[in-house]
This record gives sequence, structure tokens and C-alpha cells, in this order.
Amino acid sequence: MKTNLAEFIKSTPEGREADSILRTCVHCGFCTATCPTYQLLGDELDSPRGRIYLMKEVLEGNAVTAKTQMHLDRCLTCRACETTCPSGVQYGRLVDIGRNIVDRQVGRPLLESIMRAALRIVLPRPALFKPLLKAGQFMRPLLPGALKKKIPKTGASNTEWPAPRHARRMLVLDGCVQPSLAPDINPATARVLDRLGISLIKAETAVCCGAVTFHLNRQNEALDYMRRNIDAWWPHVEAGVEAVVMTASGCGTMVKEYGHLLARDPQYADKAARITELSKDISEVIFAEREALEASLGSSLVPRPSSLVPASAAKPRVAFHSPCSLQHGLQIRDTVEALLTSAGFELTMVADSHLCCGSAGTYSILQPQLSQRLLKNKVAALESGEPAMLATANIGCLTHIQSGTSLPVRHWVNILDERLS
Ligand code: SF4
Ligand code: SF4
Repeated sequence: MKTNLAEFIKSTPEGREADSILRTCVHCGFCTATCPTYQLLGDELDSPRGRIYLMKEVLEGNAVTAKTQMHLDRCLTCRACETTCPSGVQYGRLVDIGRNIVDRQVGRPLLESIMRAALRIVLPRPALFKPLLKAGQFMRPLLPGALKKKIPKTGASNTEWPAPRHARRMLVLDGCVQPSLAPDINPATARVLDRLGISLIKAETAVCCGAVTFHLNRQNEALDYMRRNIDAWWPHVEAGVEAVVMTASGCGTMVKEYGHLLARDPQYADKAARITELSKDISEVIFAEREALEASLGSSLVPRPSSLVPASAAKPRVAFHSPCSLQHGLQIRDTVEALLTSAGFELTMVADSHLCCGSAGTYSILQPQLSQRLLKNKVAALESGEPAMLATANIGCLTHIQSGTSLPVRHWVNILDERLS
């Protein structure tokens, strides 16, 4: 695609990056086939190709309107289009740059600005989020059905964390909302890794990965979260941790970008690049240790006599929802599925598994109608194989899907931990 960027952006690092991304797009339109918003709305401007065209207009200095902003807001940043694109267009980076410029030029109505500020202030801070969640859970029985569904219950959980005892050590990101919504995910991860000969440790001063703030277009503020995490992790990196483990794939996608986003910060560039290298989704870590896992499973699984129980009946049926951040953002596919299968679960078929569930960070709050339509489709696809439970790999997807189904929705690592115990 030919471009002629406007003076205000052309010589900036963002302008140069956006220009090179725009030039890789050949306008073939293959990406429209896998774009969830184009499938729902059928409007070219709600497709990747249409949005790329809108951003080109913005970057070339043409008038920006609230309509441009609406089409960019409707994008889930699911990056399914990146997986499909034969030309390797980095749509996710382009839309980050484009949204930032559009928001600066168009602004937002007061109520919308307040809502976005509230999300930006509350979600990354467990000290604010946790008491608000508790208050919501207390009021839950009194709330109307639609609102009630939005407030997840937090059940009893096993938060026992094994004491570090192995020479091999890895760090884990605690995250912002996950410890309040599902406090058992990271302890379960620590128990699984402990069995595989790895001690999982936390850096107590680490904070939110920065994704919530970044995707609400406060990108400089988000860079500060990233710097704080690097400062918290660095002593452990110097002490030789093998990886920084992510148990929420949404956070993992953000941390993988630290190196790129801080590349122009002379104080943090090298450290950020190292953190990007060390950042690993928990599925990658466990998959690399699969021999040790299979040995543990062999000793912990109690085989049932096949004469008494049919083989298929002995296998719990699970439908796995692969989050967009896992399959499109991190490009990790079939890994969790392989691990669950080797742990003795039967995975049911899920149609259109490449499509987003509608959670997408704060999308479910800011675009509720589209989000609910995607949720309904996703739950129907997940339930179609009659599983006994649903599993996923990201806290946002977990709570969102749980609001649309009566089946239990778990992080897959909890299921694996219980299998090992
Ligand atoms: S983003 Fe990729 S798939 Fe979509 S129109 Fe451009 S080149 Fe084609
Ligand atoms: S990121 Fe997702 S919603 Fe946005 S244009 Fe690409 S496929 Fe469509």
C-alpha cells in the first residue's frame, strides 16, 4: 500500500513504525474472513482492512471524526487478523498507534472519559479492586440478573504455596485482578512446577503488567507499570531465575512487548529486552517439562480396570477455550490441548475456536452489546460437545465465559494440579 504520512507524524518513531506496517498491507482482504466484528456487523469499516484504511487516512492528516473512533473502538484487538494475514501485517501495533492519535484528536464525551478513568484507576490496583469486588459479591443477591452475572463468585480455593526447595527457580507475575478473582491459579501453578523440580517465586513489589492502561490509550502511564515490574524482577533475574512465568495469557502478550515498547528508553531498553526473552506462558514452561509431567502423572493417575469402566467414561470431558492472547498474540497453539490430553482428559470439539469470546480486556464493559453476542456464540460452541467443564488460560476470558454458562469454567492449570494431587 502506498502511503504519504502527514508532517505531524512522519518523522516520529511511531510514524515510521506505522508507515512500515501500512506498506506491508496489500489490501487482499483475507483477514476479513476471521475478524469477529466483521462477521457480526458486515461493515467493511469494522474489518481489519477497513480499519487499516481508516488509520491510513488519519496518519495522512485527513479529518478524524467520532465515526473513525467508533470503528477503532469496536475492534477487540484479538489479532485474529494477524494470524490470517499472508503479508505479516502487524495490525495490533498499528491499532495501538492509530487509537492513540485518534483519541488525542477527537477526545471523548465526559461520561465515557469518567468510565475509562475509573477502569484505569481501579483495575490495576488490587488494593482498590479487591474491596470493590467483595462489596459487589456481598450485594450480589440483591442485584438484577444482568448485573449479577457480571460479578463473579469467588469460591473456596487451595492457596497453599510450596516453599522454595529446588535449585531451578522461576518468577511468576501475580497480576492485578487475578489474585482477587481466582486466588488459586498461581498457587496451583507453583504446586505443579514444584512437582516438576522448579520452585516458583513472586517479586512482592511487582505490579499490573500495564495492559489495562495501555489499551485504554494511556501508553506512557503503562510504560511506568512496565518499568516498575522490571525493577521488581531484576534482582531475581540477576540471581538466575530461568523464566518470568505468565498464568494469564493477556498479561503474557503485554510482557512480550516490553522489549519493543521500551526500546527507546536508554535506562530500561536492555533490561526490557531480557524480560521479553524470559517471559513464558505457563503452557510453554510445562510443555518443555512434559517428560517429568508424564512421569508424575503416571504415578498419580490411578488406572481403572477397563473391564469395569469403559475407557471413554474414565476420561473427564473438557472444552478448552484458547484465548486470543494465547493463540494470536503469543502464537501458542495446541500446547494446552496436548498437555490436557496427556493428563487423561478428553477434549471436545469447539467450532470457530479462533474467534474471540468478547472479553478482550475492558471490551466487555465498554462494548457490552457486541461482547454479549460474541459470548453467546462462544458458549454455544464450547457447550456443543457436551463437556463436563470448560477450561481456559486467561482470567478475563474465564470470568466472562463463566457469566454465560452454568458449567464450571477453570484455568487449565487448576485442572492439571488436581489431576496430579
Ligand atoms: S491486513 Fe493482511 S490479510 Fe488483511 S488486507 Fe492487509 S495484507 Fe490482506
Ligand atoms: S484485532 Fe480482531 S477485531 Fe480487530 S480487526 Fe483484527 S480480527 Fe478484527
